[in-house]
Amino acid sequence: MSERLRGVAAAPGAALAPPWRYRPPSAGRVVRHGLDEAAALAAGELERLASALRLAGNQPEAEILEAQALMAADETLLADARGRVAAGGFVADAVVQAGEQIAQGLAALDDELLAARAADVRDVARRIARIAVGAEAPRLARRSIAIADDLPPSITAELQRDLLAGIALEAGSRTAHAAILARALRIPAVVGIPGLLERATAARLVAVDGDAGELIIDPGPDERAAVESLAADAARRAADDAALATQPLKTRDGHRLTLGANIGRQNEAAPALAAGAEGVGLFRTEFMFMGRSRAPDEGEQAGAYTTVLETFGERPVVFRLIDLGGDKDLPYLPVGHEANPFLGVRAIRLARQDPELVLTQLRAILRAGRSTRTVPWVMAPMVADEDDVQLLHELVDRAADAVPDAPAARRGIMVEIPSAVTLADDLARRVDFMSIGTNDLTQYLLAADRTNPALADQQDALHPAVIRSIGRVVEAARAAGIPVAVCGELGGDPAGAVVLAGLGVEELSMEPSSFGGVKRALATVTLDQARDLAIAAAHAPDARAARRLADELLQASAAE
Ligand code: PEP
Ligand code: MG
Repeated sequence: MSERLRGVAAAPGAALAPPWRYRPPSAGRVVRHGLDEAAALAAGELERLASALRLAGNQPEAEILEAQALMAADETLLADARGRVAAGGFVADAVVQAGEQIAQGLAALDDELLAARAADVRDVARRIARIAVGAEAPRLARRSIAIADDLPPSITAELQRDLLAGIALEAGSRTAHAAILARALRIPAVVGIPGLLERATAARLVAVDGDAGELIIDPGPDERAAVESLAADAARRAADDAALATQPLKTRDGHRLTLGANIGRQNEAAPALAAGAEGVGLFRTEFMFMGRSRAPDEGEQAGAYTTVLETFGERPVVFRLIDLGGDKDLPYLPVGHEANPFLGVRAIRLARQDPELVLTQLRAILRAGRSTRTVPWVMAPMVADEDDVQLLHELVDRAADAVPDAPAARRGIMVEIPSAVTLADDLARRVDFMSIGTNDLTQYLLAADRTNPALADQQDALHPAVIRSIGRVVEAARAAGIPVAVCGELGGDPAGAVVLAGLGVEELSMEPSSFGGVKRALATVTLDQARDLAIAAAHAPDARAARRLADELLQASAAE
């Protein structure tokens, strides 16, 4: 009998193979290499793995391993381990315990990014311990699906790519390093599967469905055939995506939309451009502010922004002013405990409490514009009304006074609060551009916390209330003669993208991994079909019905 386990879809695609259980190496008592020698060898291994990833075009992922190579030489780790050895401990035990000490300190900070770093420190310490006892690096003997509690990125990068068919983890989230690397290497993965190790370790065969977030243990003949067909589809999709990178985003009858990239860090700019982005529609600048005890200073920010502007040249780059607060709480923010942080002092509202935080960022953006002689686009998140627009103008004016000779920034707002939809025509007249954040707009329109998994059904942005709101914003932008984009997840959802094109949205900005699927979907429909779909979906009784209409259109037109 087969058994199905549900988890979090972490990397798309499907695979079928026997399980291979990864167990972190246990420390041992043999000493093949001394502590410092083992640490230097570990750093060398990590650097080699990083440069292989870099050569394959996976720069952001290479940086995870580069950071680990630095951790292997970190004096805090090594001094602690040396102390334990001096006190009579074995080298391998000592370094694992020292790593654990640092990791626990990081994990206690209750921050997802630092938690990922805690896992990285543990992994580095285990690598040093493995080398110290002279044990071999893990190898696959045949094509397998790796199952583990957690699979460190360094191990994923080290396993033979041609034999590693899929990954299934008991721990982890979509943003864990294991998931990020699986996506970069195009290895289907499901993470966060409760009970995985207990149920799957003894299986003869497992199937991973990285789109549905499902693992099948010992699948029957029909299930095996279904997974094999999914795997073949995924392989075809990957080949098509590569071929589509140079194609524009357009409907079957040639109606063009601008394709923007959503990025969170400067090093994502070059891969986004290579994947075919025509600009950055959303730079989530707050990522640079997270996982640290102080905000980055003006010079550090200007350096990062310059890199992104240089990469994109004349193409527009939209810098969203820091969207912190909400679920992104940081120790240095001027916000105390809030009962409802998503309804609290978040995003542009922070600028009223601590204008210098946002002014520093604006000066850095203008300096980057000045040094690259390009016009930066600046966008305020969570704008509720004209008062917030006024605040944006005042802040940009003040920053511009401090950075003479910088090209004037274009000023825009995110429409993601229902009041901004209601007031869209007034707001549109006062800015240069608008971008609709469907993630928050859905959360606030439907009063459904976007982080609450129990509300998954209420979080679909293809809800008629969201669709009608978008339609209203598009009309307001058109009347004011300004461009309007969508930078929420709906733009990267093939069905959503078709509805948005039908509503008259001119630009869709999304994660570059969604480019292929969205281009394919749009290329199957005409603009008139997309318009008819948008009208029908806007009048559907609920999101499920709207999505069914979109899926029916896409299936019918793909079959033509
Ligand atoms: C949105 O809310 O749709 C959006 C793009 O911003 P974020 O997801 O960063 O809140
Ligand atoms: Mg938002």
